[in-house]
Amino acid sequence: MGVFEFDFLAPEWRRVADRIERIARTWAINTANTAVYIASFGERVLHEGRHASLRGIWSNWNRSFESQPASFETPETEAEICRIVKEATRLRAVGGGHTFNASPLTNGTMLSLDRYTKILSVDQATGRVRVQTGIRLRDLTAALLEHGLALAVQGSTDAQSIAGLLSTDIHGTGRDVGFLSSNVLSLRLVDADGRARTLHPRDEMFHAALGGLGACGVITEVEIQCERAYNLRKSVEIVKRDWVTKNIDAILEEHKHVSFYYVGGVFTESVRMNVWDRTVAPPTPLYRLHKMRLELTDMLVSGYALGLAKLLDLSDLVANLGLAFMWLTMNGHSTVYPAREGFPRKLFYRHDELEYGVPYDTHQACLDEVFAYLEEKRFLTIIEVRFTPNTSESLLGPGVGRRTCFIELAPSLSIDSTEVFADVEKILWKYGGQLHLGKATRAGAREMAAMYGERFTRFQRARREADPTGKFVNDFTARLFTGVATTEPSVTATSSAEHAAPIPGLQPITA
Ligand SMILES: Cc1cc2nc3c(=O)[nH]c(=O)nc-3n(C[C@H](O)[C@H](O)[C@H](O)COP(=O)(O)OP(=O)(O)OC[C@H]3O[C@@H](n4cnc5c(N)ncnc54)[C@H](O)[C@@H]3O)c2cc1C
Repeated sequence: MGVFEFDFLAPEWRRVADRIERIARTWAINTANTAVYIASFGERVLHEGRHASLRGIWSNWNRSFESQPASFETPETEAEICRIVKEATRLRAVGGGHTFNASPLTNGTMLSLDRYTKILSVDQATGRVRVQTGIRLRDLTAALLEHGLALAVQGSTDAQSIAGLLSTDIHGTGRDVGFLSSNVLSLRLVDADGRARTLHPRDEMFHAALGGLGACGVITEVEIQCERAYNLRKSVEIVKRDWVTKNIDAILEEHKHVSFYYVGGVFTESVRMNVWDRTVAPPTPLYRLHKMRLELTDMLVSGYALGLAKLLDLSDLVANLGLAFMWLTMNGHSTVYPAREGFPRKLFYRHDELEYGVPYDTHQACLDEVFAYLEEKRFLTIIEVRFTPNTSESLLGPGVGRRTCFIELAPSLSIDSTEVFADVEKILWKYGGQLHLGKATRAGAREMAAMYGERFTRFQRARREADPTGKFVNDFTARLFTGVATTEPSVTATSSAEHAAPIPGLQPITA
């Protein structure tokens, strides 16, 4: 949905005008973000979920989804949270707004835990830490470091709230650890009647709430098992794709954390490999400067070059130049960071994401089919590939129940991804992919039931127990969990993403 209408133009010129407008808008936002990033020495970007109180509009981090809640609540005590939940007829909890779909949206009550952010207890001896879940990951890890503690693994950015991360079963990449959920010892959940209770891994509801998109209630507190603070050596290498395919098992065996960035849409012989290993070495002097160099290079390639290449039909040239540029500026580059800064980065080019976890054993065939499809479509996108062990504690997480390879498409929002996301999602389903619930999707309840089988049935049972009247249901979760639309007036999804639209003809699921 563009700001300008070009109805007066002939269709072929309208398409060109739309495309130029899309690029201009995305580049304007990218440029503003880059300016803030540089001015704050890599500390800040503008991308955050936000409630504009004057207009009464909430929007997500990349401004592609928004809604106008009837009330926006920011309680400071659990008693207030319970009262707000009890009195609401429709309610969605919201964190950092880093989700790529409409799951946080509501025209009813929106509950933000932005003022519910205290660290409640820290046991340095055992590493057990209890926190209120509105706290942002970056603030939690900074406080943990002061106590000599760190999380075992993190994802690729740290602006999200702990509750938001748990509600989509956040994953990073790792040989032995991959999920925050596997280090959660207990959590507190407020159900639709406004009752708070503490849940442990022995409770089915504990596993339903992790990865449950807030459909089983509001997560207010969590107890996390942390580790002694450690440093990470992050290395970047530009390597041959063939070499990765042949040696993937050995690469993952050798390193604690590995990820790959492919350029999809054209054939390239090379791929960027990122490796993180624990080290006793101290942080590299001026490591922030090294980090900024990598992050600005990412912005240049992903935020500007790929969109321009598509517009000028210079995909092969630009993709290969981009990789050559990375080779020149990053290859063999290795920096030691405190763990809290080594895992995440500022990822601030305006983009969309589709991500699935596929079984490790068939991931290579799946990747090959995705690459071939993207090449045929000449659809330029970064594809991030990560790996996790079978340790997720969620009922509906993308990596639950098996060793997993995560395949993520992250195209700039200057490119329309509607058709490609729909087709790639079908390929991922074919290979037994499980949906990341924080990302774009066209899936409905039928697909969820097919993906998760009896886990979906168990989830539905828990969800109905916590929310018998559907207080936490919005259009998006209705599509995923019930297969029917809500009675809520449609929330605004101003996404570029028509792929957010329901699949016609979905049948209600009674599981
Ligand atoms: C730049 C970027 C990088 C990312 N990297 C990764 C990554 O490496 N790995 C990964 O797995 N994901 C990643 N994501 C996805 C992101 O981590 C998830 O979408 C996460 O849920 C966002 O957390 P949030 O606090 O922003 O939640 P929001 O977007 O605000 O909400 C997410 C969902 O959680 C629900 N929710 C929020 N608060 C509560 C609560 N208190 N109780 C119950 N439900 C609640 C919301 O209703 C919504 O359904 C990334 C996203 C972005 C934009």
